[in-house]
Amino acid sequence: MTSSVEEFRIRAKEWLAANMPRLEDRDPSLDDPENDVASWSRTKELQKILWNGGFAGIAFPSAYGGLGLTPEHQHAFNRESQGYEMPLRINVPTLAICAATVLDMGSEQQKRDRIGGALRGDELMVQFLSEPRGGSDLAGVTTRAERDGDVWILNGAKIWSSGAYAADYGLCLVRTDWSVPKHAGLTMFLVPVHTPGITIRRIRQVNGSTEFCEEFFDDVMLPADSVVGEVNGGWAVASRQLYWERTSMGGGSPYVSGWGRGIPAAAARSLAGLARSVGRLDDVAVRELIGESRANHLVQSALVRRVTIGLTTGALPGPSASMTRLMHAETDWRDSDIRVDIAGSAAVTGATGEVGELSLNRQAGSLGGGSTEMARNVISERVLGMPREFAADRDVPFKDVKQGRA
Ligand SMILES: Cc1cc2nc3c(=O)[nH]c(=O)nc-3n(C[C@H](O)[C@H](O)[C@H](O)COP(=O)(O)OP(=O)(O)OC[C@H]3O[C@@H](n4cnc5c(N)ncnc54)[C@H](O)[C@@H]3O)c2cc1C
Repeated sequence: MTSSVEEFRIRAKEWLAANMPRLEDRDPSLDDPENDVASWSRTKELQKILWNGGFAGIAFPSAYGGLGLTPEHQHAFNRESQGYEMPLRINVPTLAICAATVLDMGSEQQKRDRIGGALRGDELMVQFLSEPRGGSDLAGVTTRAERDGDVWILNGAKIWSSGAYAADYGLCLVRTDWSVPKHAGLTMFLVPVHTPGITIRRIRQVNGSTEFCEEFFDDVMLPADSVVGEVNGGWAVASRQLYWERTSMGGGSPYVSGWGRGIPAAAARSLAGLARSVGRLDDVAVRELIGESRANHLVQSALVRRVTIGLTTGALPGPSASMTRLMHAETDWRDSDIRVDIAGSAAVTGATGEVGELSLNRQAGSLGGGSTEMARNVISERVLGMPREFAADRDVPFKDVKQGRA
C-alpha cells in the first residue's frame, strides 16, 4: 500500500480508468424515480467493483475492511473519480452516517460485520430515527423495546426512512426506560430490516419518488447483541450519529467516496448551460444570479474546509458540524430558486421541464439530516453559548411527560 497522497492519487487514476464505467455510458433509466430498485442494485454492483479493486473504505480502518488511510487520500480519490459512475447512493446514510457511527460506538463484532458488509457492497443501512409524532424532538421517541429473557421485543413506528425497503440493517433509536428523563432512557439497536414483525410501506412523493418509507414494528424479536453501545446509553450513540449526519450533509465526511456534490464551479457551469439553453446568457440579471451561486459554493467549500480542520484539531466543538449542514441547505435551496428564475416559464416545459420538477424537492435539504431550525438552535446554544430554549419535559420522568394530548 502506497502511503503518500500523490502516489495514491496516481494509482487511483490508473485504476479508475481501467475499471470504473464512464459516467456518460450510465443507463439513464437509473435516474427514473420509478426505477429505484434497479438503481440500488447498480449501487451494490459498483461498490463491489471498488472493493475488488482495493479502493473501498479508504479512510475506514483496515481491521474492518477499509484501507486505513487519511481523509486526504479519500479526497484525492474523489477528485480523480469525476467522470466515472460511482456508487454514490451507498455514501449516505450507509457509509458516512451508519457505518461511521458503528465504528465509533459499536461492538467489535458489529464493526466487523456491518462495516465489512457495507464496504463489500453486500449490505445497505438505513436510519430509523424520525417518528410520526415528529423528528426534531429525537429524544422524545416512543418506539419501545422491552427485555424478555435473552431477547428484546420491539414495538412502535418510524417514518421518513430513506431507502428502508432496499436496506439490510437499520440503526433504530427506541425507549427502553420510561421512568427516567427522556435522554436517559434510550437505547440504539441494529435491526435487520427484513425480519418478522416489520412492515415497510413506501410513501409516494409529489415527484413520483417512493424513496421514503414508514415502518411498523410489531413484537419484533431482537437478540441482546443488537444493542449498539450501552442499554439506556442510546443518546450518546444518537448524538454521534447526528454528528456524522451533519458532517455528511455539510460535505465534510471523510467516508464519502466519489464526487457527488461536484466542484464549486460545477453548479455555476450548469446554471450557465441552462441560461444558454433558454437564450438568457447575455442577460445581466441572469449573470448576476450565476455569480451569486458561484459565490455561495465558494463560501460553502471554504466553510467546510475550515470547520473540518477545526473539528479535527479540536479547535471547534462537535456541534459546529451544524454550520456546514446549514450552509449546505441554504446553498441548495438558493440554487433551486436561481434555476427557476433563469428558466422562467421554461422551468415547466420542454427540455428544461426538469427544473420545475427538481424545484418540488426544494425543501429536502432543509429537513433531511435534521431541520435547519434545529441546526440554528444547536449553533446558538452549543457553539455560541447562548441560553438553552425552554423545555417543559427536561428532568421529568418520560412516563409523566404529556404525549399528544392537551
Ligand atoms: C430528504 C430527507 C431524508 C430523510 N431521511 C430520513 C431518514 O433516513 N431517517 C429518518 O429517521 N428520518 C429522515 N428524514 C426525516 C427528517 O429527519 C425530519 O423530517 C426532520 O428531523 C424534521 O422532523 P419532522 O419532519 O417530523 O418535523 P417536526 O419535527 O414536526 O418539525 C416541524 C417544523 O417545526 C420546526 N421545529 C420543531 N422543533 C423546533 C424547535 N425546538 N425549535 C425551532 N423549530 C422547531 C422544525 O424545524 C420544522 O420546520 C428525512 C427527511 C428528508 C426531507
